[in-house]
Amino acid sequence: MKYHILTWGCQMNEHDSEVLSGMLEEMNYTRTEKLNEADIIILNTCCVRENAEIKVFGRIGQLKHLKHKNPNLIIAVCGCMTQQKGVAEKIAKNFPYVDLVFGTYNLDNFPELLQKAVQSKTTFIEVLEKEEKIIENLPVSRADNLKAWVTIIYGCNNFCSYCIVPYVRGRERSRLPKEIIKEVERLAEKGYKEITLLGQNVNSYGKDLKTEIDFSGLLKELNKINGIERIRFMTSHPKDFSDSLIFTIKECKKICEHIHLPVQAGSNKVLKMMNRHYTKERYIELVEKIRSEIPECSITTDIIVGFPGETEEDFQETLDLVEKVEFDSAFTFVYSKRTGTPAATMPCQVDERIKKNRLERLMDLQNRISKQKNQLLKGKTVEVLVEGYDKSKKGKLFGRTRTNKLVHFDGSKELIGRLVNVKITNPKTWTLDGVINQD
Ligand code: SF4
Repeated sequence: MKYHILTWGCQMNEHDSEVLSGMLEEMNYTRTEKLNEADIIILNTCCVRENAEIKVFGRIGQLKHLKHKNPNLIIAVCGCMTQQKGVAEKIAKNFPYVDLVFGTYNLDNFPELLQKAVQSKTTFIEVLEKEEKIIENLPVSRADNLKAWVTIIYGCNNFCSYCIVPYVRGRERSRLPKEIIKEVERLAEKGYKEITLLGQNVNSYGKDLKTEIDFSGLLKELNKINGIERIRFMTSHPKDFSDSLIFTIKECKKICEHIHLPVQAGSNKVLKMMNRHYTKERYIELVEKIRSEIPECSITTDIIVGFPGETEEDFQETLDLVEKVEFDSAFTFVYSKRTGTPAATMPCQVDERIKKNRLERLMDLQNRISKQKNQLLKGKTVEVLVEGYDKSKKGKLFGRTRTNKLVHFDGSKELIGRLVNVKITNPKTWTLDGVINQD
């Protein structure tokens, strides 16, 4: 029996798919990359991006012929989208050949739900409305054998006015430190070299626990685990980024010098409407503090353009902030409405053409800055964790610097999984070319 999982969205969703894979493999299913070979197809959805529903519904529609050819095929839909009001019922009504719809809070019950779906003549729906306690020790089948994602906190309490996450992933729930440490120790035993700690806001870690531990405390514990060479984390909310975290990154050798710190906008008026709880001055001050303590740290960000009420002057403030901060790179987005969020009903929605124009101007600026920043690395030697062999680049090896920059270079496949020193010879806007430094 074979399974295939289609995943949309962020790393949290990717990691949920790894857990679903683990459960399926315990049920003796094996993974297949071919849809038409699968006995079960799961669509793990996301509702954060624009038109997610249209895309997912289009994909479910494409699966109808497979169900026709193989009536025993099981089709299941899960993830953030199913957690939105009315979506599960809509799927059952429009695509009656879907066997199972379940939400983000009952992922751990998947084997049981699958059994119920097989016995049910109609689409079996189970979408819990409230998060239950965290279930530990679920099986995980990881996509990589060098780098692993480790969720440390679920949900979010922030309610940024444009974001659907708190409504579909619930309030913040931290995993117990001993469970996280155990998981990372097991990963180290299996030969994993790098872990990325995941959470919508990792800086909130521990606030809901009875134990006296915060995110810095957790990082210090994980830094002691032998075998793990690199620790990364995402995402950080600027309002919760403490001085103690800056010093922890500085002191702990394994924590990589890369911080993803979404700013979202450069105008205080827009930041307030977004409900971000910081000002641009506070954000710039934070970046300066990070850079004064960890000068080599790369800082990346997320920016939304065309938020309701954003004027040309507000947008100019975003450009000014980008110019001042000099991010290493940025994920830039055009604002799009998410039904159910406060921003969706705000007046003064920005015209699509204006949004597109602002996005282009922002990307041009950021690309210029990214290139300039990468140019500074020319001739420098950086530590790279070799991740693989890139056939599209004439068989070059690739890996990432501690600052999370992608590097291509010649070398033998035996180096995969090892840390090597690479001299940067040709820095480009998004990637770096280099040669292994034998010295
Ligand atoms: S911090 Fe804001 S943007 Fe991030 S997940 Fe929470 S509500 Fe959404």
